Amino acid sequence: MSQTLRTLADVHTHHAGKTDALLSVPPERVLQEHPRTPYSLSLHPWYAGPGQLDCFRKALESCLNDPFCQAIGECGLDNRCNTPFEWQLEAFRSSLIAARERNKPVIIHCVGYWDETVRLLDELLGKPADGQPYEPLCVIHGYRKGPQLALRLLSAGCCLSLGEKFNPEVARLVPDDRLFFETDESQEDIWNIRKKIVNLRAENR
Ligand SMILES: [Zn+2]
Repeated sequence: MSQTLRTLADVHTHHAGKTDALLSVPPERVLQEHPRTPYSLSLHPWYAGPGQLDCFRKALESCLNDPFCQAIGECGLDNRCNTPFEWQLEAFRSSLIAARERNKPVIIHCVGYWDETVRLLDELLGKPADGQPYEPLCVIHGYRKGPQLALRLLSAGCCLSLGEKFNPEVARLVPDDRLFFETDESQEDIWNIRKKIVNLRAENR
């Protein structure tokens, strides 16, 4: 499954219609119509709640045999949104359990709750052996923080996905097999984003 993620130029986008990008799609849209390009089933903390969770479970059922459904997320925890923490937690737990059961990589949205996120990954996916990634792969999307936190997340077993805005020091330190690229909401072309990051990494070697 991680192989599938690796073949995509862009592991997190909200722009539809690309064959080499993973489109993040909310459950209500998946229920209306399954995308015909690679997608991840999201349960975003901003919209988490009992209704959305119910919808997520139905969508999950509907995409059981859909080869285009290649990941779960974005999902996670956000300390700057108004969703009650308990709802966020329940949504994130359900997402991780679904990812574990279906062996699909997870695209993680995290604002602030870094310790809580790693704790939940350890609890629900199991703490990886030293130097190993979580299984299924867990990708922190849109990582913009500094190197210290990046090292902590990498050593826990996370992968990092970098987009239009990123910390150059972090771009240099992420190992190849833990690095992914994304457009998210950006209008910039994924290949420009990739080139910028790859060039920075090359300077260092
Ligand atoms: Zn996003």
